[in-house]
Amino acid sequence: MSETPLKLRPGIADAPIYVPGSHGDGTGGPPAVLSANENPLGPSEKAIDAYREAVSLHRYPDGGAVALREKLGETFGLDPSLIVCGAGSDELITMLIRCYVGEGDEVLQSRHGFLMYGISARTVGATPVFAPETEDLHADVDALLAAVTEKTRICFIANPNNPTGTYISRDELIRLREGLRDDILLAVDAAYSEYVDAEDYTDGRDMVDTYPNVVMLRTFSKIFGMASVRLGWTYAPSAVVDALNRVRSPFNVSAPAQAAGVAALADKAHIEESIRQNREQRTRLTGALRQLGLTVPDSVGNFLLVRFADEATANAANAHLVSDGVIVRAIGAYGLADCLRVTVGTAAENDRLLNSLTDFQNS
Ligand code: PMP
Repeated sequence: MSETPLKLRPGIADAPIYVPGSHGDGTGGPPAVLSANENPLGPSEKAIDAYREAVSLHRYPDGGAVALREKLGETFGLDPSLIVCGAGSDELITMLIRCYVGEGDEVLQSRHGFLMYGISARTVGATPVFAPETEDLHADVDALLAAVTEKTRICFIANPNNPTGTYISRDELIRLREGLRDDILLAVDAAYSEYVDAEDYTDGRDMVDTYPNVVMLRTFSKIFGMASVRLGWTYAPSAVVDALNRVRSPFNVSAPAQAAGVAALADKAHIEESIRQNREQRTRLTGALRQLGLTVPDSVGNFLLVRFADEATANAANAHLVSDGVIVRAIGAYGLADCLRVTVGTAAENDRLLNSLTDFQNS
């Protein structure tokens, strides 16, 4: 870094830079990219067509994303005026922090929760606080509540959580909300909710209707296969919507992204097929990895956490996979250095992963 007389605001210099999942460097042939929890089937063809048709470099997009919010409202049975769209849910996380968190405040999350909450908190000079998880890597509501202090401003919970793949039930989520003070925002990040088939699950949308301090975050990057487009949204109480719209840059979502979002929501067949294939392959992959002697917690998402004997073995397995062109995610930054996170791919991609890991285990 070069010397500078400029004075950074507190926290920014300490904020870690998010390291995204690799898409491979060509080693080992055309890669099987299982590192970023993207939909292996890609987006709906209809979304691609809508994106192409909307490409116009000239005019500003609709800053209010009206058509997209109306389509979201119709699809999920929500009031469009309580929806705010963002350039990915990452942007909405940052915006929530900007609205409610300042220097010296605390942002609460569980030990192995999604990293961006803590990173964003640091950029405003706040302290991320990590509550321990249960032994089987579930968010622990009692531990989260015990970690609340008078400085806590937001509690983020990814449900299901990335990178563990675990979730907590609606009753547990409500218990968390009921145990938090009313001046603490509970942000339920439901990025992977479409993949969950558990009956006791909620994406948090019903809680937004009940509590004035709960928001739900969603993304088009996962089941909709549109990670490149950068599109996410939140359903939030009107006071939070008002605050978000004040900090939101006026044209934060591009016109093609908005058009693709509307078309993607309409293509139910693509969503259903994505869910079906993920469920089939997730079951198969979980079983096969366990048969290889690896520890794999049950996942309700589109990825699996794979635990090795220790950090060195996980690193060696990762290197072996890379040499075979299979790209997964090392998650030492999450405090899980003895694990790798593997996105559930197509049958062929999963074959490559299993063949490579079988080789590794036998070597
Ligand atoms: N929340 C969770 C739990 C995630 O795993 C991710 C993606 N890694 C995001 C939010 C951010 O997604 P995006 O910004 O692409 O919408």
